[in-house]
Amino acid sequence: LWEYPANLLAIHSFGHQILAALPLTILASANDVNFLVEKRGANDYAGLFYDLAEGGSGTSEAIFRSLPQLAHAAAELARSCSCSSGCPKCLIQSGCPDGNKALLKQVGLLLCEAFSTPQISK
Ligand SMILES: [Zn+2]
Ligand SMILES: [Zn+2]
Repeated sequence: LWEYPANLLAIHSFGHQILAALPLTILASANDVNFLVEKRGANDYAGLFYDLAEGGSGTSEAIFRSLPQLAHAAAELARSCSCSSGCPKCLIQSGCPDGNKALLKQVGLLLCEAFSTPQISK
């Protein structure tokens, strides 16, 4: 665990948890989009969502537009999952370009909660 910087763990886990929440929210499949962590500096990481479909399916844009709701759903999903540190239901993604390394459920959950806004009821 501690061989990875905390912010890498956080952003990578957060990205995976958002992907896991996709089918629950904007009805996209996690197979439509992938998530990649890019190292931009000594301790500077950026997470990128990108469409897998040729020319783009619009899923990445949809994620960007509904990030607070997605983060909310992802936090719910992670909290209600019975695993201790992350499983294929809430964290592990089969298409991860980083081989599912540097992931931790609890750290990603912190970011999900920070980004989440409760559903606005009308
Ligand atoms: Zn789980
Ligand atoms: Zn990954």
